Amino acid sequence: MRVVVVGGGVAGVSTVAALRAGGFDGDLTLVDAGEFPYDRPPLSKDYLAGSKDLEQIALQRPHWYDEQGVRLLTRTTVTALRTPDGGIELGDGTLLPADRVVLATGGGAARPPIPGAVGDRVHVLRTAEDADRLRAVLVPGARILVVGAGLIGAEAASTAVDLGCEVVLADPVAMPLAAALGEDLAAWLHGLHARRGITTLRAGIASFAETGDGVEASFAGGVEASFAGGVEPRTSDAAALGAVARAERLRAFDAVVLGVGMTPQTALAEAAGLDVDGGVLVDAGQVTSNPAVLAVGDGARTRRGPRVEHWEAAQHDGARAAATILGTPAPEPPAPWFWTDRHGRHVEVVGHMDAADQIIVRGSFEDPSFSVFGLRDGLVVAAAAVDDSTAVRAARRMIDRRIPADPARLSDPSVNVRVLLRG
Ligand SMILES: Cc1cc2nc3c(=O)[nH]c(=O)nc-3n(C[C@H](O)[C@H](O)[C@H](O)COP(=O)(O)OP(=O)(O)OC[C@H]3O[C@@H](n4cnc5c(N)ncnc54)[C@H](O)[C@@H]3O)c2cc1C
Repeated sequence: MRVVVVGGGVAGVSTVAALRAGGFDGDLTLVDAGEFPYDRPPLSKDYLAGSKDLEQIALQRPHWYDEQGVRLLTRTTVTALRTPDGGIELGDGTLLPADRVVLATGGGAARPPIPGAVGDRVHVLRTAEDADRLRAVLVPGARILVVGAGLIGAEAASTAVDLGCEVVLADPVAMPLAAALGEDLAAWLHGLHARRGITTLRAGIASFAETGDGVEASFAGGVEASFAGGVEPRTSDAAALGAVARAERLRAFDAVVLGVGMTPQTALAEAAGLDVDGGVLVDAGQVTSNPAVLAVGDGARTRRGPRVEHWEAAQHDGARAAATILGTPAPEPPAPWFWTDRHGRHVEVVGHMDAADQIIVRGSFEDPSFSVFGLRDGLVVAAAAVDDSTAVRAARRMIDRRIPADPARLSDPSVNVRVLLRG
């Protein structure tokens, strides 16, 4: 059997790795448009900070592909799916036959249609090239506006302030990540920005304008502000808000970073007539509406739920696609997990916090490490931890095995969290 995987992100590389690990001995090709398959999370963290280079964030060592018998075609773009017969077409017109094609095409950084959001000073962050361009302007004293305080925007803002930049972070959402972390932890995490000297604004962007002094941003709607370094993270004083709004509206930036999400890359699937709806639609085995084509990672979505944009989810998709191709049982998906690093704090989240009807705080938000558990009907459904991976691992087992939780013991940091796994 011949399998071609389109896209060398974590989903595509995981698919080929799982195929070989599962005993697949057929012809295996991985095609990627970029220089070589590398990891994306460091692009807003160590790589952007300059403490890791491109080779250090490679998903696999260069020899690995040969060792695994994977034909790796880099700097090669797939331009069409040749369905229903299978196979793909490359940019130079070459046809590669395949019995199964796996689309692992991820996506591109979203670029909202904000007037003036063009030009060299407006950045996005999805590829190493994006990070290189941005890194070049993150110099001490540079005035940086980050739009979007979700995962990537918050990490970019944190890295920029570490590099000595003067940072303004704007987001129209009152408490970014509240659904994933719960209101209190989201507020604490968002409050870290102000403590590190970042000016955070609750505001959307109406437009940008290039001036001799940089890019000016015009903020839409009411602006709610927290002041750089202030202990009081928010203010409702109308005069103060007005002053900040005016000052910020007139302020120019050396660079703008748009961290407002990603757009799934579905063009190949659409042109081939596959079902697409906010992602290439797949079943539980990652199979698209064409049985010869599977889809994995950030660009895929099951019909049952929203599209997921997390590293580990992409890896699990790859394992499931490989199981489908091998005809072996698909591994049971564990509770979803992701992490974010900012301001020197490592945050991990597992499960679905918005499904909880009870929140238990283990430790205190002032502690060096602490966690928040979400329970529903006495069972753990989610956890979010700051600098406490052990708590998250334990929570994940409680969720996956439906181990009943005792709220009193769960909230007591002197009770070893592993003991709680005994139920
Ligand atoms: C800056 C940043 C920080 C992140 N941090 C975290 C984090 O801390 N925690 C977390 O859980 N997740 C994080 N993520 C999300 C995580 O990186 C993604 O979920 C993951 O990269 C998705 O992998 P993927 O393989 O589906 O897609 P991608 O990584 O987008 O890979 C898709 C690949 O397909 C290639 N491709 C697309 N179309 C074609 C074509 N036609 N022909 C050939 N090749 C093609 C692209 O070049 C690309 O290499 C971060 C993402 C970014 C951008």
